[in-house]
Amino acid sequence: MNIPMTDLSLQYSQIKTEINDAILRVIESGYYIMGDEVEELEKEIAAFCNTKYAISVASGTDALILSLKACGIQPGDEVITTPFTFTATVEAISHCGAIPVFVDIDLRTFNIDVTQIENEITPHTKAIIPVHLFGQPAEMNTIMDISRRFNIRVIEDCAQAFGAEYKGKKAGSIGDVGCLSFFPSKNLGAYGDGGMVVTNDLDVAESIKILRNHGTVSTYHHKIPGYNSRLDAVQAAILRVKLKNIDRWIQARRQATSMYTKLLEGIEGIKTAKEDRNVVSAANYYTIRTDSRIINREKLREYLTSNQIDTAVYYPLSLHLQQAYQYLGYFSGDFPGSEIAQEQVLSLPLFPEITREQIIVVVNNISEYLFSNKYSQV
Ligand SMILES: *Cc1c(COP(=O)(O)O)cnc(C)c1O
Repeated sequence: MNIPMTDLSLQYSQIKTEINDAILRVIESGYYIMGDEVEELEKEIAAFCNTKYAISVASGTDALILSLKACGIQPGDEVITTPFTFTATVEAISHCGAIPVFVDIDLRTFNIDVTQIENEITPHTKAIIPVHLFGQPAEMNTIMDISRRFNIRVIEDCAQAFGAEYKGKKAGSIGDVGCLSFFPSKNLGAYGDGGMVVTNDLDVAESIKILRNHGTVSTYHHKIPGYNSRLDAVQAAILRVKLKNIDRWIQARRQATSMYTKLLEGIEGIKTAKEDRNVVSAANYYTIRTDSRIINREKLREYLTSNQIDTAVYYPLSLHLQQAYQYLGYFSGDFPGSEIAQEQVLSLPLFPEITREQIIVVVNNISEYLFSNKYSQV
């Protein structure tokens, strides 16, 4: 039995009729980009996130780029984020002509180490992008406090954290702007690309609406050079069906992650991910750390693969060491937390439908590998 990282066709089979009806409804309507389905989805997402506005865009990456632009980020401005994230976070900053400024992560949570943010603030700092990695919100209280004291915008990268909560507030509703991704593997995944910006700021909302549609303010009247970054009606119709199930799916993900943690806790050489007291993680990924003195992560992965258990490494190379960002002038050793993480992280299979038996098989295989490894060294 193969245990995949995620199983989207299994999810589809549960909601097949509703999804098929929704897709047909759009095809027969003859209206394919934006329109009623998209507007309804925007209302439903705004209600879910408890924000005044939700504006759909073509991807999570676009949500970040357009949010930075809508927040007035200009070429030469500095934007703080971590190097231990998906490349899109940092790409968005550089596409605005702004300068990404990295702050290391806290290895306990893989999120930005808030105690190091103030050291990096200069008169050019205009925004912070906290990334809620693997589904767990960053330490937003401290980040919002810093943003008020230094007059810096906060753009939450919620791509992996749709449905997560920080002190009872939905991820995305705490900073100035929240950026969502509907990439298929995210908690709320479309059958293609999609994204959304949530905000309580009317100016930001208006600005995103103009930017996403060629800078258009009224038919063939273009205020600024904009983008083609709109959501398809088919994707919106699919997402509306899925949104009705999202609480149940996140609950199932959380049950799976707490079972993993219970079973893995105490196994020598494995560090389980910790959920902070203030947060409810949306559990997009379940990521452990393997102690490099005891476990060779690559060999463990090979062993699991040979037993048909898929795993993933998010991320094998911190962004400050990537070729794309060499121009920023960082070196190996600059961000010890991120560099330890890139050597040690391992994400295990996780999806709402994963069974207790499958989780037990994964954990047993990890223990078996460790056991045989221990005795082969004696
Ligand atoms: C997936 C992801 C994005 C980008 O989302 P897309 O919809 O794929 O463009 C941005 N940031 C993080 C942390 C992500 O995981």
